[in-house]
Amino acid sequence: MDVNRSAGKRFAEEILIVGAGVVGASVAYHLTRLGHERVTVLDARDRARLPGSTGLAPGFVGQLSATPELTVLARDSVATYRALAKTTPEPVFLQVGCLEVATTPARLEQAHHDVEQGERAGLPARVLDPTEAAALAPALIDAERALGALHLPTDGAADPAALTHALVQAATNGGARFRFDAPVRALEIEDGRVVGVRAGADGELLRAGRTVLATGIWGPVLAATASVRLPMAAVQHPYLYTAELPELDDTPIDGPIVRYPDHAVYTRRHGRRYGLGSYAHPPLPLTPSAALTSAELPFREEDFGTAPAAATALVPVFRTAPVGRRLNGVFALTPDELPLVGPAAGVAGLWCAEASWVTHAGGVGRQLASQLLETGDPLVDPERLAPDRFASWSDERISATALGHYQGIYDAH
Ligand SMILES: Cc1cc2nc3c(=O)[nH]c(=O)nc-3n(C[C@H](O)[C@H](O)[C@H](O)COP(=O)(O)OP(=O)(O)OC[C@H]3O[C@@H](n4cnc5c(N)ncnc54)[C@H](O)[C@@H]3O)c2cc1C
Repeated sequence: MDVNRSAGKRFAEEILIVGAGVVGASVAYHLTRLGHERVTVLDARDRARLPGSTGLAPGFVGQLSATPELTVLARDSVATYRALAKTTPEPVFLQVGCLEVATTPARLEQAHHDVEQGERAGLPARVLDPTEAAALAPALIDAERALGALHLPTDGAADPAALTHALVQAATNGGARFRFDAPVRALEIEDGRVVGVRAGADGELLRAGRTVLATGIWGPVLAATASVRLPMAAVQHPYLYTAELPELDDTPIDGPIVRYPDHAVYTRRHGRRYGLGSYAHPPLPLTPSAALTSAELPFREEDFGTAPAAATALVPVFRTAPVGRRLNGVFALTPDELPLVGPAAGVAGLWCAEASWVTHAGGVGRQLASQLLETGDPLVDPERLAPDRFASWSDERISATALGHYQGIYDAH
């Protein structure tokens, strides 16, 4: 087949994406940016609310990582989110910077190495003294406790829900169709190939040349209907807000994200409240089912042990401010921290954009769109993200290794 005919065929083909969280929306956005208009996105959710992980995430977008592919995907996401932010009235993303506070001499020394690592990756970075760091985020950093902080000024904060709505709108403007309130019951298989999905209460068959799973923690549930195993694990994570504070206004994104790598804690401002998350507890796995309608579970004190109390004692504003909402949100991990992007193994017609963070979703969308449309310019080597890269691993090994990364998330080393 000549190249033009083959490209014409690809562009004529219907691509169906299941899931309109930040990842599915990003894949649709990038497909339409590349000129592919035959894109349909289905989601069980309604248009306004995001019951998946995206709607729970505080939206830290950090680019420095020991895994170079994650840095590439995060940097590309920042470029996409910046471009999108220029076209939307509401703030969806801002490069507010990140401060990684060192409370031990070893971490301070590491911060100096990170400056060099950042420079090699094209990310500006500097080590600040405690007073400089606390001046940038007085409510979040105690100058008495900090030994210094790594400042990464090009990192950012997203409003993940607003960002997703903006991606949906831009993809819609580019020709994609979004169908909400459309739960997908199963993948439809004919002659060993996924040819679409069964959706809605009546199990309507929707046909497509290629079907993309962007269903977040629910990925394994739908994949199983085509006997495909996705190598990922879902884990519970606590995030706490203060009550609304009179000294704060509605500015949705303001001030740097502050991380305490020595304590597995991170914190930021959200308009009139501050928020804080902690990884300082043993990972709590969850096996999502089709019956689970939200990525938020009840917050049970006993699940996270002393982690919430230790985190609130660390961050100045949390020591005195009344605590507001406390949430237990679920997200997905893989055994090597890289997302699952590309064709699923063992069945034709099925593709994945799974286990990606908000941080990498912009890049994941571009990567998958380039692979689907065979434009020849993926951001990273597709083999590194191939969904079948753990084919020889047992389920137990996949789960244990993935969960083993929980406490080290975002540690750049
Ligand atoms: C508390 C918390 C804090 C986090 N902090 C950060 C952070 O600071 N930075 C960061 O980068 N990431 C963070 N994350 C991770 C991040 O939120 C997720 O990795 C990301 O949002 C996943 O996006 P997604 O689109 O893949 O999944 P989701 O947002 O879960 O979207 C999946 C969509 O698929 C739909 N769906 C599922 N099954 C079906 C079906 N059968 N039929 C139709 N629709 C279906 C769901 O309705 C949902 O809308 C955090 C997550 C949590 C929970």
